[in-house]
Amino acid sequence: MHEDNDNLDFEDLSKFNKKKDKFFFPFTGIVGQQAMKKGLILVSANPRISSIAIIGENGTGKVTASMGLQALLPDLEISTHCSSNCDHSNKLFLCDICKEIETKEDDIVQIPTSFMILPVGTSKERIFGTFEKDGTFVPGLISIANRGYILMERANLQDEDLIKTLLDIRSTGLYTCKKGEMSFTHPAQFTLIATMNLSEGEMDEDIIRQFQLVVHTRSIKDIEERIEIVRRVESFKEDPDEFLEKNKRELDGLKIVIDNSRKLLERADIPSKSMDAIINILKDNDIDIPKMRDAMVEATKANTVINDSTWASIEDVAEIVDMVLGHHIEKGQSK
Ligand SMILES: [Zn+2]
Repeated sequence: MHEDNDNLDFEDLSKFNKKKDKFFFPFTGIVGQQAMKKGLILVSANPRISSIAIIGENGTGKVTASMGLQALLPDLEISTHCSSNCDHSNKLFLCDICKEIETKEDDIVQIPTSFMILPVGTSKERIFGTFEKDGTFVPGLISIANRGYILMERANLQDEDLIKTLLDIRSTGLYTCKKGEMSFTHPAQFTLIATMNLSEGEMDEDIIRQFQLVVHTRSIKDIEERIEIVRRVESFKEDPDEFLEKNKRELDGLKIVIDNSRKLLERADIPSKSMDAIINILKDNDIDIPKMRDAMVEATKANTVINDSTWASIEDVAEIVDMVLGHHIEKGQSK
């Protein structure tokens, strides 16, 4: 029995999910991996957190958990004439079409939040967009993923320049696709989720440190937990509907938390005591990078609103330090 468990390849679970795209293993069905789950909940609660790297061995649920987010995300309101999911309440980040055409109330529809998978080897045109002969913009993945999520599996095997480019585009929040005389500008405020197993291929530490959150998954050694994983995977395979039904209450609860968090986010405040804590942690570790200060602020806010509060406490800061600065602090210590 124990032998069998040790030989199980849990990665099969995500392959299984991909085949039956209607049924994703529910986020709440994943055993353990608290740091990863917390990180993913934070990026769902606060879309201003632009990126998360999930590092760990195969079979630790990195992709399964990421895909499971889809079921938790609130719908977006977009205009029917827009292919970039523009947020019409934010006039600074509109695509060239939305800037030209006046959007009326009747044009607004609700759609599920985009969740795009970016496989290794995807062409640049598919990622960044292109143009028809008549000049019509053909949206790329980063246009469709605006206000949504891009999942980059095995990011350590992808082109490093592509990752850097995506992170750069996300930090400006706008992208201009150009080809000859043609150009089209659109918002690109996606959240990049990159999974990687570093034993399959290294990843430049400088790139890892550009992610706003970095979480690690660990192989589960506890035999009880391993048996529970097998039990859940088997019952999901046997009857996905029933398995989802059993998880419904917990999933609905988490969905409400994320929905509520997004509503609270605008009012979330970091009082001076907590802001001082953030500044001191950065100072104590010699981190003078504005982007990391922003990451600390946004992750703290996310951690505050998921607890149904708008007033960030010192604990809210303390709980996210590892995720945001873990890789920077390790570097500092190794100097
Ligand atoms: Zn638009």
